[in-house]
Amino acid sequence: MVMITLEGITKKFGDFTALDRINLKIEDKEFMALLGPSGSGKSTLLYTIAGIYRPTAGRIYFDDRDVTEIPPKDRNVGLVFQNWALYPHMKVFKNIAFPLELKKAPKGEIEKKVREVSKMLHIERLLDRYPWQLSGGQQQRVAIARALVKEPDVLLLDEPLSNLDALLRLEVRAELKRLQKELGITAVYVTHDQAEALAMADRIAIIKEGKILQVGDPDEVYYKPAYKFVAGFLGSPPMNFVEAEIKEGNLYIYQSIIPVPQQYREIVKKLNISEALFGFRPHDAEIVKGEGKGIKGEVYSFEPLGREQIVTVAVDGEVFVKVFAPEGEHFKFGEKVTIIPNEGRVILFDKKTEKALE
Ligand code: ATP
Repeated sequence: MVMITLEGITKKFGDFTALDRINLKIEDKEFMALLGPSGSGKSTLLYTIAGIYRPTAGRIYFDDRDVTEIPPKDRNVGLVFQNWALYPHMKVFKNIAFPLELKKAPKGEIEKKVREVSKMLHIERLLDRYPWQLSGGQQQRVAIARALVKEPDVLLLDEPLSNLDALLRLEVRAELKRLQKELGITAVYVTHDQAEALAMADRIAIIKEGKILQVGDPDEVYYKPAYKFVAGFLGSPPMNFVEAEIKEGNLYIYQSIIPVPQQYREIVKKLNISEALFGFRPHDAEIVKGEGKGIKGEVYSFEPLGREQIVTVAVDGEVFVKVFAPEGEHFKFGEKVTIIPNEGRVILFDKKTEKALE
């Protein structure tokens, strides 16, 4: 297995910079998710690791070996794409065996390895079928089997589950995670689905406009986002942001005044900051009826979700924030409420740079 090191990777398409000086270390046996919005450069980075794209600048290492100039076929990587085109005229067995046949592996070995990997992915019963006789989830598993059969050092996946329906996606994602750990294979997984990244990855690299904004384990990026962008990209619904003025140890949020959270008192004083973005997650606040100590607003909408409900609150008629409330509580449109954010979980961001204060 292999550790991947990216050093100053830049990729330009003409004048357009798709990747801008990316530095990233992916540990041996690690599951790294590349997470970001459409067009942020995730796939470009994956194809660069695969060797399909050559970087405009920078070096790529697999362990100590510089692979920057090495073609894809000599990097021993397994690739799984969103459109997992299987060869339609070949049965499943042959589809999976194909990479080994290309390598001219002995027949007995091919047979053994195809059986092994099929067992792992629970597709042994399908080996004699054609791709069109399979469901989407089964086709996906065949594609993963084909990538794994040649025992790659690195598994690279580009939104491999996005063509599956929601239920199947949950099922295959759990299996994929287990399999990756069982095989102890280094995996890089491109997705724009924050829930998928949080659920599957050991660490997540959040990418925006060709730059990595933050790398961390799911807890770190969720609870300690370095930027407003990261905070707003993770979680559903995402973090709430309201503008706050800071005066004499208090935050002025529209008509409400609350103390600067304990963990920020020193830094706010030290930097002499007079305004900030106040961020809190919908799960990290309490909503109480009437006007109290907290952020005052009016109920704009509520959406029952079974065990809980999302309440949207208009603050000063100008800004909307979302909070979770227990299922039994009844709200009326326009009713006055107060939101009390959990002080310890509040994040303050610099208004200009949108960087978390620290
Ligand atoms: P998505 O989630 O939509 O697949 P992504 O984050 O994977 O997005 P990339 O496919 O890496 O994004 O593309 C990053 C940027 O580079 C985009 O603006 C895209 O238009 C551009 N780009 C990608 N490939 C090429 C190419 N071959 N030629 C020119 N521009 C390209």
